[in-house]
Amino acid sequence: MSKSLHGGCLCGAVRFSFDVAPVFSANCHCRDCQRATGSAYMPVMALPSAQVRVDGDVTWFERRADSGLAADEGFCPRCGARLFAHAAALPGILLVQAGNLDEPAAFTPQFDMFVDSAQPWDVMDPNLPKYPRMPPVGG
Ligand SMILES: [Zn+2]
Ligand SMILES: [Zn+2]
Repeated sequence: MSKSLHGGCLCGAVRFSFDVAPVFSANCHCRDCQRATGSAYMPVMALPSAQVRVDGDVTWFERRADSGLAADEGFCPRCGARLFAHAAALPGILLVQAGNLDEPAAFTPQFDMFVDSAQPWDVMDPNLPKYPRMPPVGG
């Protein structure tokens, strides 16, 4: 059992917590994550959905992922902060954005993924493994 982590959106209307270790933690450099964040990549923790407590209303936006599979993006309807994602490629997993943690330093990325889509102005830790697209994770 790892320690309990808490987080929430910009305005505080949505809060979440969990006390399980992530299935994986990674920085995703795909174009969808670039658009969702308006940034170079998205730091994500893959958590068992059933073990993440979410308080507050989350609006879900459904889209097609790079993989062609369905994906849902969860954001706060009040402040617009993007918090979560579900990917059909990762059943039973809730992807939680690490920047929303109350203690963001608790996030420890294990690898970079979708680096084929990374921008020239992106900066990555050279010591982390790099995967051109989705690595073999999750199950
Ligand atoms: Zn909010
Ligand atoms: Zn991505």
